[in-house]
Amino acid sequence: MDAVQRAIDLLGGLDSFVSPGQRVLVKPNLLQMTPPEKCVTTHPEVVYAVAKLLRDHGCQVTIADSAGGETPFTTARLQKLYEVTGMAKAAERAGATLGTEARYVEVPSPQGRVIKRFQVIAPAAEADAIVVVSKAKTHVLTTMTGAIKCIFGVLPGMEKPSLHGRMPDVDSFSDMLLDLNEAVKPRLQIMDAVMGMEGEGPSGGDPRHIGAILASSDCVSLDIVAATLMSFRPEEIPVIARAAERGMVDSSLQVKVLGEDPGGLAVADFKHPPRAKSAISNKLARGRLVTHLLRAYALRPAINKERCIGCGICARSCPQQVIRIARGKARIKYGRCIRCYCCHEMCQEKAIGLERSRSGRFIARLMEDSKARS
Ligand code: SF4
Ligand code: SF4
Repeated sequence: MDAVQRAIDLLGGLDSFVSPGQRVLVKPNLLQMTPPEKCVTTHPEVVYAVAKLLRDHGCQVTIADSAGGETPFTTARLQKLYEVTGMAKAAERAGATLGTEARYVEVPSPQGRVIKRFQVIAPAAEADAIVVVSKAKTHVLTTMTGAIKCIFGVLPGMEKPSLHGRMPDVDSFSDMLLDLNEAVKPRLQIMDAVMGMEGEGPSGGDPRHIGAILASSDCVSLDIVAATLMSFRPEEIPVIARAAERGMVDSSLQVKVLGEDPGGLAVADFKHPPRAKSAISNKLARGRLVTHLLRAYALRPAINKERCIGCGICARSCPQQVIRIARGKARIKYGRCIRCYCCHEMCQEKAIGLERSRSGRFIARLMEDSKARS
């Protein structure tokens, strides 16, 4: 609570963002129905602290999100999501309500580069202000997930895999995330970077202590600092690079930081995700041969048959419908797989890894050799 209060005070206090009486949505990262100790979701203590401070400020507070992948957008599933992730208790303690109504509203995105209209859950579309409470994690598609990506959860249920299907490469997906942030305009960003996730995030990685609470009025600036804490160079995060190209942040990616120096808090050996697609710029993807090589090079999802329990969550989350369950195990037909990694993201058994095909390994070796020679 103290750390959240201090972070907001450094920005000038809640008065700078919301007024008493306003309806405020507190939007955590609730990717999966998993308990807080797995570090897949924003920790309920941080959500509680934000909600309580807003309540004490006189705001009407709702905590709401929509889980990833195939999770049906229904009242019963939302209630279960809030229960398992600790949000129900956090809301009760803070005097906030939970957004359990499975309703969404169309929100225009006139300035959007790739999307002009979004379907958005009602508590986000109808709030006077949105406070995003994100989680610092790695991400096999977008390299890291923090403030910018957290807003993806305001899209209801299957709308998320559907957009993954329409934006299969990381640059257009990043543009869509920036469009969405511009459309719903969160007022304040808080990040739970106390325990982050390293390795194969956003759900298949391991919890890792970082020890920070971050706050900002701007999602891109916050992610630049979070990237530094996780020992990334901010420019290697595709969505930050896109934001800089769009003029949403200073091209030097320098951010004025109040409070402790993030360089001193950075976790030097933070385990980064395997380089999935970002190792080769999507801008090169012109011409059939280059497209074919890029596709072969990109890591593909691989089922670990020992761990797979045949639950079918991956199959229902796949925008291309290329996963089926046969003899109690998931199988992937790679022909139409777009490497969106929704299946990897949603598997709760860590039964989907990432690997290169034989030709992908060959290309990777050639690239290593040419790097060594240059
Ligand atoms: S891979 Fe994971 S999500 Fe898919 S069926 Fe197996 S256990 Fe379920
Ligand atoms: S199988 Fe391919 S297209 Fe389907 S969810 Fe996994 S990565 Fe995406």
